[in-house]
Amino acid sequence: MCVCVGLALAADAPRPASATAALLADVIRVDTSNPPGNEAKLAAFLKTKFEPLGFQIDIIPTPDPKKAHFIARLKGDGSKKPILLAGHADVVGVEREKWSVDPFEGVVKDGYVMGRGAIDFKGGLAVFAEAVMRLARNKVPLSRDVIFLSEADEEGGTYNTMWLAKDHWDKIDCEFALNEGGWIIKNPDGTVRYVSISTADKSGVSLLLTARGTSTHSSMPRPDNAIFTLSKAMAKIADYDTQPKLIPSTREFFTTLEKTSQPPMSTYFHDLVNSDDPEKVKAADRAISKDPLLHAIMRNTIAPVLMNAGFRGNVIPGSAEATLNFRTVPGTNVEELISEIKAVINDPRVEVTNAMRRGMPAGSAEAYQAYIRAASRAKPSSTETDLYRALVAQSHSVYPGVPVTTYLFQAGTDAAAWRSRDIPVYGIYPYAISAEDLTRMHGNDERVSVESLEQGAELIYKTLLQVAAKQ
Ligand SMILES: [Zn+2]
Repeated sequence: MCVCVGLALAADAPRPASATAALLADVIRVDTSNPPGNEAKLAAFLKTKFEPLGFQIDIIPTPDPKKAHFIARLKGDGSKKPILLAGHADVVGVEREKWSVDPFEGVVKDGYVMGRGAIDFKGGLAVFAEAVMRLARNKVPLSRDVIFLSEADEEGGTYNTMWLAKDHWDKIDCEFALNEGGWIIKNPDGTVRYVSISTADKSGVSLLLTARGTSTHSSMPRPDNAIFTLSKAMAKIADYDTQPKLIPSTREFFTTLEKTSQPPMSTYFHDLVNSDDPEKVKAADRAISKDPLLHAIMRNTIAPVLMNAGFRGNVIPGSAEATLNFRTVPGTNVEELISEIKAVINDPRVEVTNAMRRGMPAGSAEAYQAYIRAASRAKPSSTETDLYRALVAQSHSVYPGVPVTTYLFQAGTDAAAWRSRDIPVYGIYPYAISAEDLTRMHGNDERVSVESLEQGAELIYKTLLQVAAKQ
């Protein structure tokens, strides 16, 4: 671990003393806001770092000349199947005026690297890259290839890992992989509370609600107004929430929260996992759900995202539509979801159907459908693998006394390309962050601490030594 973090913090220091932080600052400086992405520029930069260390480099162009995947392979003796470390190169855009620093300057301030993607996921990309390059610098003899992948278009979708896997599978095939996912969460006093490693992602499905009525002149309203009918249905959905639905990874996660919290929260976490009393579970759900992230990972969530009705100021439209986006726990069946929502609405005038993702540019909808199909085939990754065991062992070594737990990631990630092919993927944002820092992800003044980055690089490097070094 870096002992020179303090030095790196001097406000006027042009570059941090941490190699990982310096690399992250460089990576942030290549603006890969998607759209348009410009991941090919980052691929060219990464090549200058990896190639001199003896990595075999593949830059995979996509039909969009600005988007490319970057693959660097460090050869092992081939006695075991490769391990892959994947991170997306693109980031979401910024509201520049709301930032206190230039989000694309790689500013290091008060012990933090600031910039778009610092958490999601350029920080992880830098940690993975540093750990992999450290293997090469230290000339560690390897029993398997170590593959580093910097992906294009995760935030967009068209030329993402699903696209890459279709024609270039041989380059990214592996025994198991690491990507983004679980969190290393800090307590308010700065100590680490837990390390969570995602073994599954939630998937998404959208349902379309269509209310129909008589289309006519607005001067003679009728009782079957489609907009009123839809509004009543939406009001019922607003007052409704799904039941908690735990799976093995979330049971372990909430049990870890029980062990690392004080009453009454510890009791609520206990009841959520263990109680047969519906009233106790309800009370636990109410208390725990004040945290939107915890609310989300224990259930199928419902979010209205689009509405569409009417086209003129003096015409009552014949139909009104709303799209509800659900993020579902593995094992959720779309038909069951449709029946559940129909029962809540309880109005035969409102049709509920499986919706294509709407409002997307041509091509994206198709890519999204392919992603959804793959995500629904993906099974939670086993914890009985050398990689999972190594992550747990090395987390205990880097963060002594801190519990390590499985986790269900609350959104979709690029892992579907592997998990849908039965290859285990473990997700981690490999740096300790506070709950407050977490709210900056996809928000303003996104940042990650230099110390956390160094610890993360150590965690991933030691994990790689355990699973890929020749014994
Ligand atoms: Zn991400």
